[in-house]
Amino acid sequence: MNTMNHWQTSPLLMQLHKPGRIGVSLPVSETPVMDATAWFGEDACREGALPLPALSEPDAVRHFTALSQRNHGLDSGFYPLGSCTMKYNPKRNEELAALPGFAHLHPLQPDCEVQGALRLMHELGELLCALTGMDAATLQPAAGAQGETTGIAILKAWHLSRGDTGRTKILVPDSSHGTNPATAAMAGFQVVVLPSDARGCVDPEVVRRAAGPDTAGLMLTNPNTLGLFEPDIAEIAEIVHHAGGLLYYDGANMNAIMGVSRPGDMGFDIAHINVHKTLSTPHGGGGPGAGPVMVKAFLEPFLPSPVIVKKEAGYEREEERPNSIGKVKAFYGNFGILVRAYAYLRTMGNTGLHLASRHAVLHANYLRVRLSGTYLIPHDGLCMHEFVLSAEKQAGRGLTAMVLAKNLIDAGMHPPTVYFPLIVKEAMMVEPTETESRETLDRFADEMIRLAALTDDELEHALHAPYGTPVTRLDEVAAARKPVLCDCMGIT
Ligand SMILES: *Cc1c(COP(=O)(O)O)cnc(C)c1O
Repeated sequence: MNTMNHWQTSPLLMQLHKPGRIGVSLPVSETPVMDATAWFGEDACREGALPLPALSEPDAVRHFTALSQRNHGLDSGFYPLGSCTMKYNPKRNEELAALPGFAHLHPLQPDCEVQGALRLMHELGELLCALTGMDAATLQPAAGAQGETTGIAILKAWHLSRGDTGRTKILVPDSSHGTNPATAAMAGFQVVVLPSDARGCVDPEVVRRAAGPDTAGLMLTNPNTLGLFEPDIAEIAEIVHHAGGLLYYDGANMNAIMGVSRPGDMGFDIAHINVHKTLSTPHGGGGPGAGPVMVKAFLEPFLPSPVIVKKEAGYEREEERPNSIGKVKAFYGNFGILVRAYAYLRTMGNTGLHLASRHAVLHANYLRVRLSGTYLIPHDGLCMHEFVLSAEKQAGRGLTAMVLAKNLIDAGMHPPTVYFPLIVKEAMMVEPTETESRETLDRFADEMIRLAALTDDELEHALHAPYGTPVTRLDEVAAARKPVLCDCMGIT
């Protein structure tokens, strides 16, 4: 990793400010200057110029380039962040999404002018249904979590449409991603947590005891967040259906099973897919993203509007949908991301997607086996696309999951997900993805094994890592809850 110390000293734009310096050269305007105060009144107008920094173009470019180099991204190094599936973003997808015919569209253009875009979205929906074993899709949700919210709203609307108002509970295993219980609670359901069994899986007997006339449904990801395929899923689906509930599939872990198994065949009624995980679109700095939702045919009437339908005359947007849960996002969702997902699916084809999943599983198992002599692997045995190791043995000498993570940063690698899932102590959740080379996987394994063997003296140094970053040990909660965003401009 780049450890040049300009990271530490890189000034803010406001500190580079030199009055009168200018970064643009525009022709003199021929438009007369308008008197804003006459239009808007004194009160609404600023007294002086905006306090924007004045600087040259090269200074501005260097500033933003330096900022971009502070990030560890997929294009800069290994990123085995379990559950997040940080797979490589093919550059071909970017080129296709940037084609003017896609990039310059306006969502209010009439159907006849945007047939290509409508066709792309319609076909993407069909491809996603084929991939997941479902019948109908909406591309509107902007993330996996919003897909969950959409899917659970559909689940709720279905129960209510049948006059079934007594279904107040959603079952969620204790290994689930936090968004599952959060979604269920936000939709007004009571969350019933199902404890995992010794295998790290959901025991059908536990579901049988929990399911009843008040069960609205079950939310499950398969493979689960321990990276294990739930072997009893068919029986679990039958129990939930028998009790009158529906099954929601959290498709964030689809990367493990493309072309191998499908949530629709496992018995799920609703599924979302995180295209930024499974289908190689960028995660971005929190967006824009997409979390399409697929449903079985009986739930199609509840999908958000519009849906794109294929008629004899061409593709149309169907807005009038009396049973729809409504809109969950403006227009059609994040179209540019949908183009990338479509490009990936078309590029890979059936064979390519199947191979991608098989390689993802192979890579995870390779690392699991290489690390199992050094670290405790609580749910050992064949894993899917990720596995969870525990640094419990190492933590006794201070080499906790957090210390290991901070030292990996100095080795130029993004740490795995730490302290999740919550049911494993000192958890590190490793998801290498299919696009890494054997050499990269070995470099990670070698580093993890080297760290576990540090002498006491070396450990003392390691405890204060990372050394090569602009900031080291952050208060992550305060950074998220109380971010300082505008301090330097004198605005509060
Ligand atoms: C990432 C993830 C989510 C949430 O998806 P976002 O797109 O980040 O909102 C939900 N469930 C699981 C298992 C995940 O890994």
